[in-house]
Amino acid sequence: MSYLQLSGVEKLFGEHRVIKGIDLAIQQGEFVVFVGPSGCGKSTLLRLIAGLETIDGGSLQLDGRDITHQPSSKRDLAMVFQSYALYPHMSVFENMSFALKLAHVDPAIIKDKVDRAANILNLTNYLQRTPKELSGGQRQRVAIGRAIVRAPKVFLFDEPLSNLDAALRGQTRIEIAKLHRDLGATTIYVTHDQVEAMTLADRVVVLRDGSIEQVGTPLELYDRPANQFVAQFIGTPQ
Ligand code: ADP
Ligand code: MG
Repeated sequence: MSYLQLSGVEKLFGEHRVIKGIDLAIQQGEFVVFVGPSGCGKSTLLRLIAGLETIDGGSLQLDGRDITHQPSSKRDLAMVFQSYALYPHMSVFENMSFALKLAHVDPAIIKDKVDRAANILNLTNYLQRTPKELSGGQRQRVAIGRAIVRAPKVFLFDEPLSNLDAALRGQTRIEIAKLHRDLGATTIYVTHDQVEAMTLADRVVVLRDGSIEQVGTPLELYDRPANQFVAQFIGTPQ
């Protein structure tokens, strides 16, 4: 059985059917990328998985449990947004440990978890700084660090690199790939950037107007695009 299963997932905003019966099976440890043009429903689909939007039809299963109507806080998922909302008055260490502190985790365990995450993300020397003393790329890594320390079942990323300049985007993309290799965590990553999709993904899900056009490995999409839309979006000559 798959680790995360979407079955007939639907979302309406008023009259507008934004997500149209999405079926998708994701395996444990997979890195799945949602791509598609602006407005096709990528963020909405991710937010439905995260429990940040209520679902209007269909169901979600995670690790053998029905989470369709479970509150976000109970789903054991961690989301990293494009605008990294760090607490400005707190140090990097405090930002990364905040959720664990709220959960009354033992301080020694907190320190260990934060140190490990900081090590993976090259933030060890920045733990006492505040966000305004960091570069954009470092701030985004702190946001990722906050997700890592919670050791969620699934990482959800919504265009995490879109506020970074091209050089930092490339560098942070490599770090996200490394993170996935190190932790082996199930990851869903939203982007409208084909290069990000093709370099990071085990499988790419091409969305268009609330529906799936094609699901496949980067190579499958490149070699055998299902239709003209996928071919153009992936950038394959036809
Ligand atoms: P993407 O992330 O692919 O750019 P979104 O999921 O943000 O697309 O949006 C999909 C569609 O849903 C768009 O037409 C958008 O205008 C609409 N939409 C998104 N959020 C809301 C909302 N809270 N209320 C009404 N419409 C929304
Ligand atoms: Mg979006």
